[in-house]
Amino acid sequence: MQRVSAILMSTIFLLPAAGQNRPAQTPLPAQPIAITGFRDVQAQVQREKTFLAVPDAQRAGEHLRILTSAPHMAATPEDRATAEYVAQKFREAGLETKIVEYKVWLAGRPDEVMLEIVHPKIARQPFQLRERVDGDKYQDDPRIVQGFNASSPSGDVEGDIVYANYGRPEDFRKLQDMKIDVRGKIVITRYGNNYRGVKVHLAEQHGAAGVIIYSDPSDDGYVKGDVYPKGPWRPESGIQRGSVKYTFRYPGDPTTPGIAATPDLPDAKRVPPEKADDMPTIPTMPLSYGDAKMIMQELGGPESPREWQGGLPFTYHVGPGAVRVHMRLKMNYAYHTIWDVIGTIPGKDFPDELVIGGNHRDAWVYGTVDPSSGTAAMLETVHGLGELLKTGWRPRRTIIFGSWDAEEQGLIGSTEWVEDEEKRLGTAAVYFNMDTAVSGPTFAASAVPSLKQFLRDATKVVPSPSGGSVYDAWQKSTQSAAATEGAQRRQPNVASPDLPVGELGSGSDFTPFLQHVGVPATDITSNGPYGVYHSAFDDLQWFKKFADPNFVYEQQMARVFGIELLRMADADVLPHDYETYGKEITAYLEALQRRCNSAFGKQSPDFGASLDAAHRLMNAGEAALTLQNSPPASAERRSKLNRALIGAERELLFADGLPKRPWFRHSIYAPGEFTGYSAVVVPSVTEAVDNGDPKAAQEQLNALAAAIARTAEVLEKSQKGD
Ligand SMILES: [Zn+2]
Repeated sequence: MQRVSAILMSTIFLLPAAGQNRPAQTPLPAQPIAITGFRDVQAQVQREKTFLAVPDAQRAGEHLRILTSAPHMAATPEDRATAEYVAQKFREAGLETKIVEYKVWLAGRPDEVMLEIVHPKIARQPFQLRERVDGDKYQDDPRIVQGFNASSPSGDVEGDIVYANYGRPEDFRKLQDMKIDVRGKIVITRYGNNYRGVKVHLAEQHGAAGVIIYSDPSDDGYVKGDVYPKGPWRPESGIQRGSVKYTFRYPGDPTTPGIAATPDLPDAKRVPPEKADDMPTIPTMPLSYGDAKMIMQELGGPESPREWQGGLPFTYHVGPGAVRVHMRLKMNYAYHTIWDVIGTIPGKDFPDELVIGGNHRDAWVYGTVDPSSGTAAMLETVHGLGELLKTGWRPRRTIIFGSWDAEEQGLIGSTEWVEDEEKRLGTAAVYFNMDTAVSGPTFAASAVPSLKQFLRDATKVVPSPSGGSVYDAWQKSTQSAAATEGAQRRQPNVASPDLPVGELGSGSDFTPFLQHVGVPATDITSNGPYGVYHSAFDDLQWFKKFADPNFVYEQQMARVFGIELLRMADADVLPHDYETYGKEITAYLEALQRRCNSAFGKQSPDFGASLDAAHRLMNAGEAALTLQNSPPASAERRSKLNRALIGAERELLFADGLPKRPWFRHSIYAPGEFTGYSAVVVPSVTEAVDNGDPKAAQEQLNALAAAIARTAEVLEKSQKGD
């Protein structure tokens, strides 16, 4: 489900000529070694070398071919077949493997998705809604599900159309300013800029009767470049499927928020589906720009604001009139069984300390980039660890791999597993995520602040197919992006100045780990121009032509993922850097304080206690780093420190969760209620400020200060000698 904004992709990610894709079989020689937390760095370097030699580009390509040989939407027989394949590869590598089932409320293949234009001068005729280009060999498979938005209700609506740009709060405000009423109308909005569920949520709040979300050519179509099959961008018939579930309330099975949807869970313990409040109440469907064009060009009313103009070849109007549409959706919800594949390598020294890596497996159609490029890479990581096991190596901590199901429908497989394993996850050191792992050559990452430097260090020992290390290539792409833009595109990391590592918002499986149970997380990807997201054309033909013809970026991602796991599993002292965490929280608070001062003046809340706590965390983190960089000889002192480093992130949770959304407990990161994918930082305070309520902001600041102080205290206690 995860996606990087198309706007970001277009400028940053330049695909090198195919000839530059040298296979990177040989691990790098002498690189500056930066490994935190090992007493015997050389032994670790040796293990990493053994590992790095294993992940194989061709084998990754073979995994990818098998995983994407058929459309494999969650809970279908084809999805089950991919679970069996992954389980088989886990077992071959020597992992203790099981397929874990959950019974969840899911949208199956819809019975009907119908849209027709109603126009005084045009005869009624339903759109074909069919994805079709010249010469794609996968597009005719009858198992391809037609374009639909999961979590939409069924419905039969006819009405006037209003264009709402990206469907952001400011777009709906603009319509109000223009005296355009969306009540009872069908809102047409374009994809991009926020999570699609947010668009529907806002349309619903403004009284719309239905929603159409289309892919505008300026966002991922011909305005960006040549379209598939000539280029990588979205062709005119391409449809972006996707869930519109209100995951910002809670992800996972709609009927079991906060508890695991195990097959034997009695119905009495479930929320009846019709009462679940994570589902929109108005019908919603996606549309290609080939079809949307027919509606948009007939739209009357005033001219749209100029910045609402997309790439279709006429001037956009906002409506309503003269065109109307008739939409009929017959959705198909039922309880379905889904399959997570869990592979375990028990740790020999600290078996209850967990190091988890995961990636989802279900796809809207073939899902070659999303998510199979991640699964193929993960399987090569597993292959590498399997070879290490054969040499007699055992990890010191327990390594767990998760192949999640039903992520596309709202992070369901990972969320249910996390809710199932909540107790055991209390001693998880980390969750490493991949999703759309490879769509091109440009490496990018997100992480909690404590793992940003750890992640950068891991990329320094992995060779990049474009030459040098992944770190070097990452640096080059960041510099050239900055040069093109004349400025840094991404927010500079104030607290962690080096290559940009983003914040974790939502949109992939790290969400339940980090935001529900407080397991520190990272997410890695290698990006390129990717216009076929969630369409039938995200297939192997597209992938081989535009993303990674020789699967060398697959190999790269398998290696980075593996280095992350190995370092975390075998470290004497864990590498989590709470000095940076403290700095980053300080930067968030200072920015918010400036906002409050200008918004509330004298009524502005007092940030003193929270800033003091963040400072205290910074100092405690700095003191811990001294020990992390030269781990103490005493095993007891090390394990005391490790327990603290594992426990620290949990102290950032609010026991009762965020105001009005108790499932989300993290005090520093949450998906935005109005952005959906992007992170809102210090969310409870930020949202109180957004609501113009300085009193509520003060209450939330007090709770936040206490959480940060608890985190600092855990670290301080661990450093007291014994
Ligand atoms: Zn995905």
